[in-house]
Amino acid sequence: MTVATFRFYEELNDFLAPERRKREFRCACARAATTKHMIEALGVPHTEVELILVNGESVGFDRLLREIFERLDLARSARPPTLCLHCNAPLRDIDKAQVLEQLPPSVRNRHGRFTTCDVCRRVFWEGSHGRHMRALLDELMPDG
Ligand SMILES: [Zn+2]
Repeated sequence: MTVATFRFYEELNDFLAPERRKREFRCACARAATTKHMIEALGVPHTEVELILVNGESVGFDRLLREIFERLDLARSARPPTLCLHCNAPLRDIDKAQVLEQLPPSVRNRHGRFTTCDVCRRVFWEGSHGRHMRALLDELMPDG
């Protein structure tokens, strides 16, 4: 048996058991398991996954987990968030005019789409959750 550490990002968390969402967790994998097998075994349809990082490197679904020692990160390209990053409640679209006063000046000028959480009243825009993802993608695809 090999033990890999998994972390799923963005909407992929919706497929996981609540205690595994948005955090790292360890999972035993069969010796011959591929990344695809493990993703499906954890309840995530592999067709939903757009990017797999193993120890910081992008890999394919056929990658055998026996080569993995540290960490398996599964990511999806950046999209406006659908769940609150703070309390995990569903977010709804909101007009820019209604949140204008809550926005930092740099955001006011650069962003047009916003979502808000009815529980904690936080406002999100694409850049507020996508910063980490974008840095990750820039690192992988410097020419993209
Ligand atoms: Zn919230």
